[in-house]
Amino acid sequence: MELQDIISADKEYVASTYARFNVAFKSGSGAKLYDFDGKEYIDCATGIGVNIFGVNDEEWKNAVKAQLDKIQHVSNLYYSQPQAELAKLLCQKTGASKVFFANSGAEANECAIKAARKYGNTRYGRNEIITLKNSFHGRTMATLTATGQDSFHKNFTPFLDGFKYAEPTIDGIYECYTEKTCAVMVEVIQGESGVNQLDKEFLRELEKFCKSRDILLICDEVQCGNGRTGYLYAYESVGIHPDIVTTAKGLGGGLPIGACMLFDKCKDVYTFGDHGSTFGGNPVSCAGAISIIERLTPELLLEVQGKGAYLKINLEHIKNVTAVSGEGLMIGISTTKPAKEIAKACLEKGLVVLTAHEKVRLLPPLNITKEEINTALKILNEVISQ
Ligand SMILES: *Cc1c(COP(=O)(O)O)cnc(C)c1O
Repeated sequence: MELQDIISADKEYVASTYARFNVAFKSGSGAKLYDFDGKEYIDCATGIGVNIFGVNDEEWKNAVKAQLDKIQHVSNLYYSQPQAELAKLLCQKTGASKVFFANSGAEANECAIKAARKYGNTRYGRNEIITLKNSFHGRTMATLTATGQDSFHKNFTPFLDGFKYAEPTIDGIYECYTEKTCAVMVEVIQGESGVNQLDKEFLRELEKFCKSRDILLICDEVQCGNGRTGYLYAYESVGIHPDIVTTAKGLGGGLPIGACMLFDKCKDVYTFGDHGSTFGGNPVSCAGAISIIERLTPELLLEVQGKGAYLKINLEHIKNVTAVSGEGLMIGISTTKPAKEIAKACLEKGLVVLTAHEKVRLLPPLNITKEEINTALKILNEVISQ
């Protein structure tokens, strides 16, 4: 198929939920992508933070292929070696007690929402969850309700009861707090709404607020987790200890997987029959995820921090750039020009970037090279400063 055939088939047969760029990627290697005409791109998007070690990564592919040679799926009615191994690895690395595996970020958050409600309902008759304004937690009805952005809500009423949206300040939390509050859910760095780093002092106050009332603190690390910010999970950079951490995107290195990590307080909240998933914890996805998590060593995380700092310093010097946000290789760029236009112009010049609200967003693979970063900076400079 040529690009034009792909586009016409897509337009005719695929549900029109996505405004797509006029490109189809055919292959790649590390942070380089190739389209159907053989044009090369530097990838600063990794899907949307998914291909965490880039494309065609040997180590990840070997892990996935080795599992494919054994068995591609087992029902959760039976034990699964890759799932048990990945759960153990995640618990050892984070201090979590138990993990539920899903297939996506939204599903990981569904699991967290159900866990929080059961915890609150069974202990105190509490079932309200506070999320933040400008948050993004997914597209299913519960996670859409949890998402604190009106633009996603129109046309999909009625929503679930029991969600309140707070300003990201401790006063904002108090305004939404009632005797029914069972949990507060936050993204340490809000991805979709513009790589907005929450104030660390606020997060530490929030932790105290939650702990003193036995309200669960949930960190949605679907985007900012798995080494993305130069920490295994971004909450570590704040020094807080959430009760539930959800993740997905980069975890599988490109295959669908979501995880809801339950820490000590809620390790026994789920019992038989409470929750489940046919595909959840797929052995091939888990085998890929094990290889990803094993590689997120302290040395690699330091490298991510270094690459992020280098990118930030150089971005800040570009004409028309007004601010640079984020941590590690999760970066938001504010400029005086519309982000969508910048993304389009970058694509033409061979650089793939994302946008998030009015910002240009960079989520490059963690193994992007210095040379590739310099090429990306050169193109960004050309596009943004002109
Ligand atoms: C992408 C994202 C989700 C939703 O993940 P899906 O895999 O698309 O369901 C939830 N929370 C955050 C913070 C995200 O970035």
